[in-house]
Amino acid sequence: MSNSAAPHLALFPCAGMGHLIPFLRLAADLHSRGAAATIITVEPTVSSAESDYLSDFFATFPRIKRLEFHLLPHTKSQLINEDPFFIQMERVGNSVHLLPPLLSSLSPPLSAAIVDFPILSRLLHLLSLPVYTLITSSARFFSLMTSLSHLPPPLNSQIEIPNIVPIPVSSIPPPMLDPNHFFSANIIENVAVLQHTKGVMINTFSSLEPEAIEALRAKGVLKHLLPVGPLPPFQRSKTCHELPWLDEQAAESVVYISFGSRTALSKAQMREVAGALEESGCKFFWVVKGSKVDKEDEEEVDEMVGEAFLKRTEGQGRVVRGWVEQERILGHPAIGGFVSHCGWNSVTEAAALGVPVLAWPTHGDQRVNAEVVERAGLGVWEREWGWQAGGGRLIGREEIANKLRALIGDAKLRATAKEVKEKARRAREECLLQGLLLNSISD
Ligand code: UDP
Repeated sequence: MSNSAAPHLALFPCAGMGHLIPFLRLAADLHSRGAAATIITVEPTVSSAESDYLSDFFATFPRIKRLEFHLLPHTKSQLINEDPFFIQMERVGNSVHLLPPLLSSLSPPLSAAIVDFPILSRLLHLLSLPVYTLITSSARFFSLMTSLSHLPPPLNSQIEIPNIVPIPVSSIPPPMLDPNHFFSANIIENVAVLQHTKGVMINTFSSLEPEAIEALRAKGVLKHLLPVGPLPPFQRSKTCHELPWLDEQAAESVVYISFGSRTALSKAQMREVAGALEESGCKFFWVVKGSKVDKEDEEEVDEMVGEAFLKRTEGQGRVVRGWVEQERILGHPAIGGFVSHCGWNSVTEAAALGVPVLAWPTHGDQRVNAEVVERAGLGVWEREWGWQAGGGRLIGREEIANKLRALIGDAKLRATAKEVKEKARRAREECLLQGLLLNSISD
């Protein structure tokens, strides 16, 4: 490709907000650096959040093109796969043979494609252009993924991976250790083709995860590892309804609580969180979810947390259901702490904004991500709380209230979180200075 022509990149996120958001941030970032971008959007999406977010994105960036990709119906899998977002990934993988003619018809012709990891192996051999992948998890978890097909036996209940601090077996999501599960089979299938990609982008930065990034590079299975994080949010056209209440609160006084886009706490656990918020006396902003897929959320907030609780805490906090603009909330001066499930996007947002985290992982990569949070000085983690999803124990209100008070009152943690923010800012600046992304694509 000639260096004088602006590259045209196709970006292909497969399923769920945790994948869609970093892909759209990368697209907006590349676009701002002069690249032409086409987003391949999967139709239909699993959640309303995905379709709403996409509409808003294309309204905000009219020059970024949308290629609608209609999926074949789902066929029953041989693998254990009950999660609607995993089912969607499998469905996308089973439909991608329909994509190459659509891509060939794009104008100007594509320079490269950036493909979501779960569909990489299905698509890579069908495309005759440079292919990159974007990893939407931590480098530490990605190290575990790249070692999965030949994991050594756990010694002292931990997994030894060369050049990184051992990963406790208790941090590994159980489906990852079951070869019949879609999660593990999909990781192994896609790791096997990484060496045939032009490069691997990952939404992290060296000073957050120096050890894991070096370990991945030392392994030599990846041609280029490009830490591109923390991917910056873009200005959205929608307004944020939560800010007026936050504007009235004292600086760093409010705890923001969210378990991401696809995790619903049990009813019993929600009651304990509500009790803890009240007992702690902390100001709070709590985003609640009733089900994994937002379209199935039928209950109103008062049915979820109780009308009496809402009345009693009217002056103390806000509870909302549905989509909020997390990055704007986290960036508000009133926010002093973040109770997070440690989905990797939430971690990178907390890092970029210097908000101290109380890690409460629920499933997937989140315990490994929580280790990163803790080691980086970005937050604290109560390991004993276990996994929330899949039968973790009920955590009582007193225990939670103590942690909330400690989080909001921890000046040392606030200071180290601010140091992480400064490192994140420098990482983005270096990324900008080196023109890392576009240079690597137009080489
Ligand atoms: N998010 C948001 N509003 C919400 C819920 C989530 O903006 O109401 C965003 C959040 O900022 C993050 C992404 O959705 O960028 C969730 O990704 P993450 O990896 O944190 O967790 P997941 O939802 O994949 O479990």
